[in-house]
Amino acid sequence: MADIVFRNVTKRYGGTLAVDDASFTVNDNEFFCFFGPPLSGKSTLLRLILGLEAPDTGEILIGGKPVNAVSPAERNVAMVFQNLALFPHMSALENVRFPLAERRVAEAEIEKRVADVAAKLHIGHILHKPPAQLSGGERQRVAIARALVRDPAAYLMDDPISALDARLREETRVELKRIQRDLGKTLIYVTHDQEEAMSVADRIAILENGKIRQIGAPAEIYDRPASTYVARMLGSPMMNILKSVRGEGGVEAADGTIRIADKAAPADAVEIGLRPEDLKVRPWSDDGRAVEGAGRPARVFEVEPLGGYTVVTLAAGQARLRALLRGQPDIRPDAMVAISCEPARVHYFGQGGGALAR
Ligand code: ADP
Ligand code: MG
Repeated sequence: MADIVFRNVTKRYGGTLAVDDASFTVNDNEFFCFFGPPLSGKSTLLRLILGLEAPDTGEILIGGKPVNAVSPAERNVAMVFQNLALFPHMSALENVRFPLAERRVAEAEIEKRVADVAAKLHIGHILHKPPAQLSGGERQRVAIARALVRDPAAYLMDDPISALDARLREETRVELKRIQRDLGKTLIYVTHDQEEAMSVADRIAILENGKIRQIGAPAEIYDRPASTYVARMLGSPMMNILKSVRGEGGVEAADGTIRIADKAAPADAVEIGLRPEDLKVRPWSDDGRAVEGAGRPARVFEVEPLGGYTVVTLAAGQARLRALLRGQPDIRPDAMVAISCEPARVHYFGQGGGALAR
C-alpha cells in the first residue's frame, strides 16, 4: 500500500506560507496531480513527501505509517524525470540499466526489471540502439523506462515534460497515463498546464498560494468548480465570469446582452460563469425583434477558425465573452448576434467568489 496522507500540514519559509494547512489523501495506484500557477506550493508539497523538507506543523503518512521522522532514503518514494535527456554515449539498454547498476543491484534482478519495464513500454526491439538512432518518441519512452526501472512505492514527477515541444508533450502524456495504469503504482505529478492536468490525472488538487482550493476528478472540478478561481483554472478558452444582477424571472449580465430565465437562480449570486462551449450564438433577426431566450444584441468582435471548432469573441455591452462553436460557422466580425445559454449550464457565484447551488 502506498497511499499518502497529509493531515493539516503547514510549511513556511521565513514569512512565506508555502503550504497552508494541507489535508488530503492520495490513494494507492492513483495518478494524482498538483496543479497551480508558479509559486503556489507544488514543488514544496513534493519535497515534503520525499522528506527533503519537514512540515512545521501537521503529519504526513505513507502507507499508513507516519513519516515525519523518517529519512528520505527510507521512505521508498522516488522523484523521477528531473532529467529526461539520455546519456548519448550509452545504448538505450545501458541507459535503462543505469539507475540499478549505479545502486549495485544484482545482475539477475537488473535483467528481470529491465525486461519487465521494456515490455511495458514496448521498447525491447530498440534497446540495442544508441539514442541518436531513435526517434523523438522512442527516446522519450527509453527515458521513461530509465525513470521507472527502480521499484519504489510511489513516483513523484515535477513538471517532467514542460521542456518538450507541444507535439511530443501530447504523445508523452498519453504514454505516461498508460504506463501508470500498467505499472499500477501511485504517481504524483506536478504541472502548471491545465490541459495536461486534465488529460492525465485521476484526481487533481488545485492550488493557490499554498492553499488547496479543490480536489476532485477532472470532470468533476470542471463541471462543478468550487469558486471563480478554480473555474478559471480549468478550460480553454476559460470560463466567462460576469457580474450579474437579478432580472425578470432570472438573472442578467453583460449589460442585458445575457438574460437567463432561471427561477432557481440563487438570490445571493453576484457573478455568473458561462463555459464558452455552453454559449449559443445566433444571428440577430433582421427585423430587429428580440430573439427567444437571448438578451439584447451583442457584436462579434473577432473570429478564430481553428478547424474542428471556432472561437468567437463577442463584445457584449462592456464585457468581452468567448464562445466555442463547433466546426466553421458562418459568423463574421461586426455581425450582430443573440447570445443564450441553457439555465442548467449556468454557474452561480456569491460575494467572495464561492460557488452557489441552484
Ligand atoms: P511551485 O512549485 O508551485 O512553483 P514552490 O513550492 O516552489 O511553488 O514555492 C512555494 C512558495 O515557497 C513560493 O512563494 C516560493 O518562493 C517559496 N519557497 C519555495 N522554496 C523556498 C526556499 N527554499 N526558500 C525560500 N522560499 C521558498
Ligand atoms: Mg515548482
